[in-house]
Amino acid sequence: MKAVLFDLDRTLIDLQTYTDYGAALEDVESLIGSWDDPPAPQTDWDAPTQRSMSILVALSGDPRWCGVSEAIAVHEMTAIADSHAMPRLEDALALSQGIPRAVVTLVAEAPARAVLARHGVDIPVLVPRRPDLRPKPAADQLLEACRLLGVAPSRTVMIGDSTWDAEAAANAGCGFVGVAATREGATRFGSGVMTGGDLVVALELASRAV
Ligand SMILES: [Mg+2]
Repeated sequence: MKAVLFDLDRTLIDLQTYTDYGAALEDVESLIGSWDDPPAPQTDWDAPTQRSMSILVALSGDPRWCGVSEAIAVHEMTAIADSHAMPRLEDALALSQGIPRAVVTLVAEAPARAVLARHGVDIPVLVPRRPDLRPKPAADQLLEACRLLGVAPSRTVMIGDSTWDAEAAANAGCGFVGVAATREGATRFGSGVMTGGDLVVALELASRAV
């Protein structure tokens, strides 16, 4: 492994639990109207989170995307005060120091930078959701991170907690290691995916992955 890409939410820091995606959706739907079934792969997120992220995926390239993203970002920003580090974050940051690394997240740039700073995550290469990149589970954000780090995707491992991270890694040609702090979380990826119970174990698995 030459480089590592970390998902942010529920991989490094839990912001998602405290983000009121239900309220975010009300704001989004006041902008764009209701949308019965925005097309995107299923995850094990709760319904408002899945729906918010699916709308961002489905609107990729649409002029309404920025307004929708900003409406959701207000609620992501509000959640930062309650956010907490995932298990062994500090150890994992120390262990991965010296390895080219980036954060690749569906969170918007301002709340992502603010929540990383709040928890002392000093990883300057950040690829948040952006209007010019198709969001995970597409490959674009991961390929942009590899380009910024100057490392081939085939020598890079994504570490993340969701099936969208795993799909994005596959689409980008990166390795993937799941991180799941709970037993039920460990089963979401299926038997073919290496999964660590915390960030340090995930990093150790990643170092042997590609
Ligand atoms: Mg996540």
